[in-house]
Amino acid sequence: MDNNLSLYNSLSRIKQPFVPIHKGHVGMYVCGPTVYGDAHLGHARAAITFDTLFRYLQHLGYKVRYVRNITDVGHLEHDADEGEDKIQKKARLEQLEPMEVVQMYLNRYHDDMKKLNVLPPSIEPHASGHIIEQIEYIKKILDAGYAYESNGSVYFDVPKYNQDHPYGKLSGRNIEDMISSTRELDGQDEKHSPLDFALWKKASPEHIMHWPSPWSEGFPGWHLECSTMGEKYLGESFDIHGGGLDLLFPHHECEIAQSVAAQGHDAVKYWIHNNMITISGKKMGKSYNNFITLEQFFNGDHPLLTRAFSPMVIRFFILQAHYRSTLDFSEEALEASEKALQRLTDTYRRLGTLLPAEKASVEVPEYLSLAYEAMDDDMNTPIVISHLFDASKFINSASAGEIKLSKEDIAKLRHLFDLFFINLLGINLSSENENSKASKAYEGAVDLLMEIRKNAKAQKDWATSDLIRNKLSDLGFDIKDTKNGVEWSVK
Ligand code: ZN
Repeated sequence: MDNNLSLYNSLSRIKQPFVPIHKGHVGMYVCGPTVYGDAHLGHARAAITFDTLFRYLQHLGYKVRYVRNITDVGHLEHDADEGEDKIQKKARLEQLEPMEVVQMYLNRYHDDMKKLNVLPPSIEPHASGHIIEQIEYIKKILDAGYAYESNGSVYFDVPKYNQDHPYGKLSGRNIEDMISSTRELDGQDEKHSPLDFALWKKASPEHIMHWPSPWSEGFPGWHLECSTMGEKYLGESFDIHGGGLDLLFPHHECEIAQSVAAQGHDAVKYWIHNNMITISGKKMGKSYNNFITLEQFFNGDHPLLTRAFSPMVIRFFILQAHYRSTLDFSEEALEASEKALQRLTDTYRRLGTLLPAEKASVEVPEYLSLAYEAMDDDMNTPIVISHLFDASKFINSASAGEIKLSKEDIAKLRHLFDLFFINLLGINLSSENENSKASKAYEGAVDLLMEIRKNAKAQKDWATSDLIRNKLSDLGFDIKDTKNGVEWSVK
């Protein structure tokens, strides 16, 4: 249990040895998906980053309680033109109960995560299932004097809090700068200061998702669910809180303020943020027309893609960058990842057939301890991958008969790949195998039909030849007779 795992602590911007609050146990909270749309590459990056950390902490022997919430209260990203929240809008358009919308997107999210080999968290609490706890949490903040009621809504009093505790310590902002750059926004007339944020909002009559509270029929503010559910499932103090860098401010800054106000102290020991994904250098978003969902990556159905990419290629692509670096997506970059993953996969298969020599001709460096070092250094997965590539050279040379490896070295290399490539980086080769097996069988079957058609033509059996051609064409195949033979593809 004694290890040197260093985690980036955004609060102090220094690396330090990881010491969990409760010996042997780690509490980890990660801001989960907002379930009003399909998951995209940004969701995949957050999920894969914390999945890798979850896997590594468990491998080190910690019992990890990993909580990833589901934001389903529907208070996010109000449609500015219509003043309607997204779950509500979708529910109205499709004549669905809001919880049907939530469940539909949640099922799709879980399917995507399974394909990416992301392990399910220990607890996945819904914000909508914790309204009572959120109301109790607001009462604590009110009792502490850091919130006020206004017209049925409750707001957090940022200037008052800032007199006693630094607001902005996570994002490195100060309150004066924030005031000068704040625009007039929703609820301005109810708030004492433009920086104050909602803990409870009174619902307008057309708002479908609302609950009773001591202040009004309404709904909780977004930042509140994470403070509340973090405390409920991990206690007043826990080890790790994660999420995408876009959540650092205001979401996580507000979470800190809420827990300090309610509890009198910080809840989180280490804040970890994964950086963003850009698409050909641009921010990803609907307004840039470069928004690709995970499903579109898996089936290739998007104008920016010429073909499909397997979930493991997406996972590997994400792990090839350090989680704190920005990662730029382009189809070329994804193709490079696909080739690199294929090289490691081929090596892994060769490793299974390597035979030890009585006398080794080379000494293999200690890649296993180098890979551990890289993981302990702020989860540096690209360095882990570079060690796997270095180790591959020995495996491939031995497989080609150019060098001889000892039994011990082969065992160590197998352990390196089983542990780091398969278990910790989470590369699931069986799903790749199944895909390629199925597509090989399918290609073989179509080739066989082409062969039968060729023979039929040679025997002037035009009926059979045309039947095969026409039926395949009906099924969506494009068949071309060229001077080199028949070429087929799917239309
Ligand atoms: Zn959150």
